[in-house]
Amino acid sequence: MAHPAPIPLFSAAAVNAGIDLGTAIQQVLDSHWYVLGQQVQGFESEFARYIGAAHCVSVANGTDALELALRAVGVAPGDKVVAVANAGFYGSTAIHAIGAVPLYADVDEATLTLSPVALEQALASQPAAVIVTHLYGHMADMPALSALCERAGVPLIEDCAQSHGAELAGRKAGSWGRLGCFSFYPTKNLGALGDGGAVTTGDAALAASLCTLRQYGWSHKYTVAVPGGCNSRLDEMQAAILRAKLPLLDAQNAQRRHIAARYNQAFAVLPLQCPPSVNGDYAAHLYVVRSPRRDALRVFLQAHGIATDVHYPIADHLQPAYPHAHLVGALEVTQAACAEVVSLPCYPGMLQSDVDRVIGAVQEFFLQDKGAAC
Ligand SMILES: *Cc1c(COP(=O)(O)O)cnc(C)c1O
Repeated sequence: MAHPAPIPLFSAAAVNAGIDLGTAIQQVLDSHWYVLGQQVQGFESEFARYIGAAHCVSVANGTDALELALRAVGVAPGDKVVAVANAGFYGSTAIHAIGAVPLYADVDEATLTLSPVALEQALASQPAAVIVTHLYGHMADMPALSALCERAGVPLIEDCAQSHGAELAGRKAGSWGRLGCFSFYPTKNLGALGDGGAVTTGDAALAASLCTLRQYGWSHKYTVAVPGGCNSRLDEMQAAILRAKLPLLDAQNAQRRHIAARYNQAFAVLPLQCPPSVNGDYAAHLYVVRSPRRDALRVFLQAHGIATDVHYPIADHLQPAYPHAHLVGALEVTQAACAEVVSLPCYPGMLQSDVDRVIGAVQEFFLQDKGAAC
C-alpha cells in the first residue's frame, strides 16, 4: 500500500504561503531600527483598531502579556487570581511569576471555558483578578462573566491567545475585559516568525502602566518609577511581519471555520463530542473533539499518517511543580475533558483532500470499532 504524505496538526509553510514577508523584513533592515520603533507603533494602532480597543501595548510573548496585565491591575504576592485549569498552564505561569495564588474554577461543559456558576462561587474568596481563557478559539460567556466581575468589583482579564478575531455580540475577544492578552507565537491564528504578544485595553491609565512595566518600570529613560517592571518588548521585525499578516486574519479564520464545519457535519453521526459552534464566536484555533476512546483514536490516526495532539493532557492543578493547588469545587468537567480531548489537523491552507482523509480515517476508526465491539 502506498503511503500518502503525512498530515501535520499545523503547517507554518501552508499558513504563510504567498504572503510577502520579505518586503516587511527588508523595511526593518533598511530602517536600521530594531526595538520599539515605527513598526511596533504601527502594529499597535492597527491591532487596537482591529480588536475594537482604544489601546494596544505589545510585549515579548503571550505569557508576559498575562503577567503584565495582572501587575497592571495591581495583583500582588499572595493575592488570589481565579483561572481555569484546562488551558495549558500559561495563566498559571503568569500568576506564579508574581507570587500570587491561582484559584482554579471549573469550566462549562459545552465550551470548556470558565463557567459563570463556578466563577460566582470563586468570587466569594475575594480574588484580586479573574483570567478567562477563550479556549480553542471559543469565546467564553462574556456577558455573564463580565456582569459577575463588575458586580464584585474584580478586574476581568481575557486570555485571547487562541481567539484572535473571535467575536460575540459584535464585540471581539480582547474588547470585553479590562485587559485582553494575546500571543503571536507562530502557531496562533495571528502568528509571527518568532515570539510576540500584546495587551489590549480601553483604559488609558492601564495602557500607560503597561508601557512602563514592559520596559524596566521606567517612567522616563533610567528613572525606575514602578516596581515589578521587566524587559518585555515586541521587536520591529516581528511587528512588521504581523502588520503584513493582520489583513489576512479574517480570511484565514474563515478557512479554519470552514474546515471545522466540514468535520462537524461529517462527525455528527459518530460517538464524538464536536465543537459547539462554527460561527464567528469560534476562531477555530484548534479543532478539538471529545471521546472516551481518545487514546485508541490517536494511535489509529497516527498509523494513517495523521498527526493529533492533546490540549492539554495534565490539568494545571495536577502539575507536579505546584502541589497543593487551590480549587473551587471538584473541577469535574475539567478532569473529564482532560481525559477525552483530542485535536485534529485544522489550519489555513490545509488541502481539501487532506480534510477528506482525516474525515475518512475518523469514520473508519469508529466503524471498525463498532465491528470489534459486536
Ligand atoms: C499560547 C498561549 C499562551 C502563551 O503564549 P506565549 O506567547 O507562548 O507565551 C497563553 N495562553 C494560551 C491559552 C495560549 O494558547
